[in-house]
Amino acid sequence: MPQVFPARSLPELPVAAADLTYPVARIFCVGRNYAAHAREMGNPVETDAPFWFTKSPFGLIPDDSVLPYPPGTRDLHHEVELVLALGEGGEVWGWGVGLDMTRRDLQAVAKAAGKPWDTAKDFEGSAVIGALVQGRPAPEAVMRLTVNGEVRQQAPLTEMIHGIDALLAHLRTLYAPGPGDLIMTGTPAGVGPVEPGDRLEGTLDGAPSVRLRIA
Ligand code: MN
Repeated sequence: MPQVFPARSLPELPVAAADLTYPVARIFCVGRNYAAHAREMGNPVETDAPFWFTKSPFGLIPDDSVLPYPPGTRDLHHEVELVLALGEGGEVWGWGVGLDMTRRDLQAVAKAAGKPWDTAKDFEGSAVIGALVQGRPAPEAVMRLTVNGEVRQQAPLTEMIHGIDALLAHLRTLYAPGPGDLIMTGTPAGVGPVEPGDRLEGTLDGAPSVRLRIA
């Protein structure tokens, strides 16, 4: 039957050093998975279970994009994160580094009012993810975010409160993760605002970097 309009195509991520793309389905995100980041946001450090929010895959933009400063905010923040890419059976297929861009002022209002985070976390251009690598990162891999070449965030993955297997096990208690599902695993300390003209680069040892320019 004809469609009312052509269906929008879901995004795909490049796979490093391979003639392959990774078709994206859902984007699950973890909050407060680094103690120092929880503290810098004025939140308690909770270690019993992770908590989750989601982003629409349509919010994902390609690596090295130019993002117009988004509407509705005066406080757009960077968050660099390890991204897990699930494959068949919902197991970890690969990984990469990504940016969870956040309208921090909208998030602060939502948090204070006990309201959802969607408008703070899920908007066009709110996720950027670099090329994926098959397998898993080294446990001690170090993640970094620079803005105009200056280091703003830097931490080893060993600082994650909930590691890769614990996150996946917890996600499985709530959803049926499958191929194409991504997990943005939380950001270390050092989040902060970006301004038009800023050039962001996220790196994680062993993966291609992710870049974003704010216009
Ligand atoms: Mn985040």
